[in-house]
Amino acid sequence: MSRSHGGTSAFERLRARLDERSHACEDCGFVDDAGEWDAVTTGATVEYRRECPGCGTEHLRQYRL
Ligand SMILES: [Zn+2]
Repeated sequence: MSRSHGGTSAFERLRARLDERSHACEDCGFVDDAGEWDAVTTGATVEYRRECPGCGTEHLRQYRL
C-alpha cells in the first residue's frame, strides 16, 4: 500500500487536530484565533501547551505517539 504524502508526520496530524478544535478558553471563554500550541515531545508522548491571553490559564493536551 502506498500512503506516503511526503512530510505529513503524526506530529503534524496531531497539531492539525488541535487546530480544528475551538480555541475558546474552557475557563473564561476567551477566543484566541491566533493562538498557537507549543509542542513538547517527551519520548512516547507529545504535549501541546497554550496559555490563554484572557485569564492566563495554561491549557495542556497530551497524546501518545
Ligand atoms: Zn481563559
